[in-house]
Amino acid sequence: MMREELELLLLSASRSSAIDGGRLQESYHLILDAVCRGLQVARAGVWLLMPDRMRIRCELLVDGEHHRMEEELILTRAQFPRYFEALDTERSITAHNARHDPQTSEFRESYLEPLGITSMLDVPIRHRGQMVGIICCEHTGLARVWSHEEAAFAAALADLVGRALTAHSQVQTEQELRALNATLEERVRDRTRALENALTEATLARREAEEANQAKSRFLANVSHELRTPLGGILGYCDLLIDDASHDQTIAEALEELTAIQGAAEHLLAMINDILDLSQVEAGALHLKATSWPIEPFVTETLATVRPDVERGQNRVHIEFEPSLGEVVADRGRVRQILINLLSNAGKFTREGTVTLKVRRHTEGSVETIAFEVHDTGIGISEEHLDHLFTRFYQVPGTEGGTGLGLAISKAVAEAMGGSITVASEPGRGSVFTLFLPRSAAAA
Ligand code: ADP
Repeated sequence: MMREELELLLLSASRSSAIDGGRLQESYHLILDAVCRGLQVARAGVWLLMPDRMRIRCELLVDGEHHRMEEELILTRAQFPRYFEALDTERSITAHNARHDPQTSEFRESYLEPLGITSMLDVPIRHRGQMVGIICCEHTGLARVWSHEEAAFAAALADLVGRALTAHSQVQTEQELRALNATLEERVRDRTRALENALTEATLARREAEEANQAKSRFLANVSHELRTPLGGILGYCDLLIDDASHDQTIAEALEELTAIQGAAEHLLAMINDILDLSQVEAGALHLKATSWPIEPFVTETLATVRPDVERGQNRVHIEFEPSLGEVVADRGRVRQILINLLSNAGKFTREGTVTLKVRRHTEGSVETIAFEVHDTGIGISEEHLDHLFTRFYQVPGTEGGTGLGLAISKAVAEAMGGSITVASEPGRGSVFTLFLPRSAAAA
């Protein structure tokens, strides 16, 4: 082929985007195509040395029209020592007469003769300054003499393979870098998110702590205020008594003052007991002693305790059971405390009416609870007060007299047992307070 034709072939191969795109197989194909056409050989291959440089592996072998790449082709230094020695020089192997050339004659019986190959031209492929393989051009038919121009053409094509290899490793590095960047970004994002979460949690925790602190201050202020009222009463009546005594009044005449002192002191004691109870519950120091006990006798017994109190307001007292309620596992004393509180409230705020305790099963989701409903036909509670009933010291205006702690304690205790208390009421018609107690309140 003419020199210009070779140059054209080379130019068109070197312009392919496959080479600088690092698309190796595509590059090998078009380079070997140019080899076969330019040198007019039937067979050509791209061979790359393996990292140990003891073996060389065929990456692509083309043979005439049909491209072929049978099973992996590997030549070893042990099989073909002289050929590998020639490769070590990193120069072209120009074997005009391949079967007799000492560099290639090792291939004679196994390869050259069976395939009818007479001349071979191997040109080195370089990558990063090192020879990494060869393009092998194989001529069949009468032996030929490779011209300088042909050798230069093949060498230039081998350089293109080198360029493709360089581009390929660049593309790979870029991909790795991109993947690395992506994971890095992901990690930065994760970290940032975790930090943000931690910050939000810390802010929330601080706010909660501040709120708890404020609640505690409010509670203390309330407690001092509430305790001062009966104490003030006690001291006031004591003053009166002292005054009376100085006027030589008899002890019998002081009965009224003494009764008032007793009342105030009892109120004080009730309040201190309630406060202690409440602070125990709120500090999480409530020790629940869960045992198993049948519901019906417990309810009858509890009702008997408060009955005189409730009946004092000319009220009738009823009890209604759903049949076969069975047993619950809970702290009996604490459940009793809640029921007594609800029942005595019902009695306290009902005159000439009815107080009914209804006990039934109630299932919420998969949890079976027992509902203890305390119905009364008393004064009722208007909507605006309903939400505040369970707040410490809260008393509906006009109903003062208690400690305002009973419902707060009952609710806290019920919740400590995994239960709850709800209220429904209508002014003038009465109220229903319900304690929901899990069938097994031991776990809570
Ligand atoms: P107290 O010791 O003051 O009764 P509680 O916490 O038990 O404290 O009740 C808070 C307030 O809720 C009561 O002061 C009263 O105003 C209202 N209340 C509770 N139970 C009833 C009821 N059955 N009917 C009407 N009002 C009630």
